Amino acid sequence: MRLVLLGPPGAGKGTQANVLSQKYGLLHISTGDLLREAVKNKTPVGQEAKKFMDKGELVPDEIVTQMIIEKFKHSDISPGFILDGFPRTKRQAQILDQALAELNLPLDMVLYFETGEDTILKRLTGRRVCQNCGYNFHIVNIPPKNEGICDYCSGKLYHRQDDKEETIRNRIKVYNEQTRELIDYYQIKGLIKKASGDLEVEALFSILQKIFKETRLI
Ligand code: ADP
Ligand code: ZN
Repeated sequence: MRLVLLGPPGAGKGTQANVLSQKYGLLHISTGDLLREAVKNKTPVGQEAKKFMDKGELVPDEIVTQMIIEKFKHSDISPGFILDGFPRTKRQAQILDQALAELNLPLDMVLYFETGEDTILKRLTGRRVCQNCGYNFHIVNIPPKNEGICDYCSGKLYHRQDDKEETIRNRIKVYNEQTRELIDYYQIKGLIKKASGDLEVEALFSILQKIFKETRLI
């Protein structure tokens, strides 16, 4: 199964990608996670990307597409993959199409998580992320068993720099200006399936499973 998860920040793409990748043995590729890893390791790419990420702007297309192409080259993507947070611009989508066409591994589906602004703000302000494995928790919705500690690897949880209200508002604006048009882009290709990003983790996951069954992806 080869999927793209599309939707505004806070739609629950990362959380569903975690659940789906475990359940179906798919590779979870998150450009946000890859970029944060590069920032943490202070690589040249990380240092460049940080300037954009801290403001809630998009990192330039060349940087992220290069990163994805490298990831494809060095991973076994034959069991399938979930792209989470990529593509985010039309240019990125075109480069992705081309790369997948060359590999003869076209996308099966683009899941669009339609999400209200209230949900987005509540989720992102309460989000806590594991410093070590990147797993996402939420102080109210998905609390860790022990406060501030990851359930899976005992790593420390932190509040993302770009999860401040002011930066969140800019990320929503950037999404509306640069990413939203991808819904049409994929609609024309007949790949879009819509689900509500306002739903809780389990409820949304059941809906996704229903979609996969209906379309015979599982
Ligand atoms: P969210 O979906 O909650 O906004 P991500 O972890 O996906 O969070 O992204 C965090 C930041 O990383 C973005 O605001 C942006 O600066 C950068 N980023 C991630 N993916 C991309 C991408 N495909 N293109 C450009 N920038 C990206
Ligand atoms: Zn962890």
